[in-house]
Amino acid sequence: MCNLLENLKNQIKEEAKRNNIGKYFTERILSTDRLLEFNIPVGSKVFRGYRAQHSNLLGPYKGGVRFSNKVTRDEVEALSIMMTLKCALLDVPFGGAKGGVEVDFSSLSEKEREELSRGYVRGAFPVIGPEIDIPAPDINTNEEIISIMVDEYSRISGKSSPASFTGKPVEEGGLEGRDIATGYGGAVILSELCDFWKIKEATIAVQGFGNVGSNFAIFASKMGHKVMAISDCEGGVRAKKKISIREALKCKKENKRVGSYQRKGEKRICNSELLEMDVDVLVLAATENVINENNAEKVRAKHIISIANGPVTTNAEKILQKRGTVVIPDILASAGGVIASYCEWKQAKNSKKMRKEEVLDFISKKMKKSFYALHGEKQDEIFSNVALSLSLRSLERRMLDKEGEIR
Ligand code: GLU
Repeated sequence: MCNLLENLKNQIKEEAKRNNIGKYFTERILSTDRLLEFNIPVGSKVFRGYRAQHSNLLGPYKGGVRFSNKVTRDEVEALSIMMTLKCALLDVPFGGAKGGVEVDFSSLSEKEREELSRGYVRGAFPVIGPEIDIPAPDINTNEEIISIMVDEYSRISGKSSPASFTGKPVEEGGLEGRDIATGYGGAVILSELCDFWKIKEATIAVQGFGNVGSNFAIFASKMGHKVMAISDCEGGVRAKKKISIREALKCKKENKRVGSYQRKGEKRICNSELLEMDVDVLVLAATENVINENNAEKVRAKHIISIANGPVTTNAEKILQKRGTVVIPDILASAGGVIASYCEWKQAKNSKKMRKEEVLDFISKKMKKSFYALHGEKQDEIFSNVALSLSLRSLERRMLDKEGEIR
């Protein structure tokens, strides 16, 4: 079992015990409803695709599809559990799912990328659909890829089906604001965090400058905070005063690494230097397990916002807790995307367009509510444990409502 899945299951067991959650429900939540695995032939190569459907207690299964060479069956399963927990915490009426293909996406040609996207839909077709399981963007699956997927889905099903996917281009029934939603949601959390801990102008380091990290940085700097450093998988830069987000975006647009963008007064740094910077807020928007037992002691930031999936391991969080570092868990801080997906799905079903301001307002309200629910519960506990117990309790309530007190 991969670390992420094992840690998550252990954490669920611990929290379920602490919250006196019934044995039957705990077993249900520890086992995934369905895990489909299939081959995707692309030219002369064959890739392995997955779709994990963890639970549909709260509504149709929902979750992104990632194309990455780190994808494994266990990782996809763990991420599908996190989707269930996230939707329960944020009160979004979806269940949890996740998909992925193990592939070095950057090595594929445009034609191969299209073949892979169509092949994924063909493989997952028997288990997805607008009322069953609705895939969405994730790592390396942007709106162009989703548009190809919708096309393939409509081709196979023989009818146009805009509610079958979220994260579509706006001109194809997508939602205004969906592309910036996850980064925006992270910035809403930043703003609440700064209000709560009375930080006026936060200094911030952002690990990861993809869709999520870059949009987070845009909103954070618009709010008047100072992004002091950014990085991607090949390293980053640290500024003396603050990073010019505009320049960094220009660099990203030209397909250059953020570490290659360096102006006067700025210094190239590696990822570990960024993680150890003395800033008010460290934002993790890259990948899992980046803060672990080996480097948790070196973290100097006072607050961490986890927007990537699982960037802080359970043991690392215990170390950080002892040192007084506040960690806002991923199932809260990364929820902007799925909240917007819910708006997009509803929009497709009711044919009623939502404006970008309405979408952002909806995200903001939901995320603030959950942020304060977490604070209301937190005593000496670690935030991710509190978030987990809130999710588990709400899922258990839902199961009892649905299935009656027969257990
Ligand atoms: N991939 C995103 C996530 O992990 C979005 C999922 C969705 O919108 O369904 O939250």
